Amino acid sequence: MSLPTVAAKPAAPRINPLQRIWLREIGMERLWMRPAPAAARPVVVPQAPVSKPVSVPDAMPAVVVQDTAPLPVAPAPAPAAPPTVAGAVPVAETAVASRRANGRPGIPASILNRTGPPPRPEPKAAEDDVVEAPRIPVAEAVKNANLDELREQVVACTACGLCDGRRHAVFGQGATPTRWLVVGEAPGEQEDRQGHPFVGRSGQLLDAMLAAVGMSRETDVFITNVIKCRPPGNRNPKPEEIAACSPYLMRQIALLKPERILVLGRFAAQTLLGTDATIGSLRGRVHSLKTDEGAEIPVIVSYHPAYLLRSPSEKARAWQDLKLASRMV
Ligand code: SF4
Repeated sequence: MSLPTVAAKPAAPRINPLQRIWLREIGMERLWMRPAPAAARPVVVPQAPVSKPVSVPDAMPAVVVQDTAPLPVAPAPAPAAPPTVAGAVPVAETAVASRRANGRPGIPASILNRTGPPPRPEPKAAEDDVVEAPRIPVAEAVKNANLDELREQVVACTACGLCDGRRHAVFGQGATPTRWLVVGEAPGEQEDRQGHPFVGRSGQLLDAMLAAVGMSRETDVFITNVIKCRPPGNRNPKPEEIAACSPYLMRQIALLKPERILVLGRFAAQTLLGTDATIGSLRGRVHSLKTDEGAEIPVIVSYHPAYLLRSPSEKARAWQDLKLASRMV
């Protein structure tokens, strides 16, 4: 009796490299490559190699894996490490270390464990802490000064802001002892450059006017200003600048003891006479200045030479003022 013919089982398909790639693509490769748990691992009879079917998801065709040694699988590339700076601690490591130290991510232990108020920043080195010498008021400093000492005080004076922009403090120039004291307003640009009062065209006109009544700055006249330093842009001096500077003029008057004072220009006249009257109402008559020593000095008001240069028609009035002053000699 012949045995019934049994249809031969179709040979189980093997996994070839192409299939392995495909399995890797769909994420199933590890299922094949990972060893099955012991309990679930089928017992393999050590017989001739027998292919066994393995169930796979419905969407996948059944494949058969032989109990043969798995093909070597190239290890997956490690994720690229971020670039690091020498000596720098990566942020992730810092956070981990912080978490290890205090259990709260992102807060350094030095802050979390701190008690008391946060430390104050170190005070900045005090570059501007320049200790200034105490200032002596001008009126106090000039009290006992002679003319040379007074000149030195003016040259070094910083009693008001005008010292910042000056080239020269203009003390005054002329004969000592003197007969007339001529007082102007403040140094202009040329006076500031040269350090002398009434230079340039104004100075030449003044010299000519004085010469017309027989006077000169070399032998008879001392010339100075109410303000000794040039105001910026030739602006009018401020009240505080006048207050700071006027003790120098008063000391000059006390030391020079002039026979009379010729005041040139509105500003100088108003300052010296302590009035806000116009120059037109002040000129043409004799005023009087009482000194601290009790002396009374005649004062004549006239136009400033710079004004006469701009308004030549006023020169006739200036000439009358000079004649008034000279008649009193
Ligand atoms: Fe001193 Fe008179 Fe000059 Fe002012 S203007 S800095 S008070 S000299």
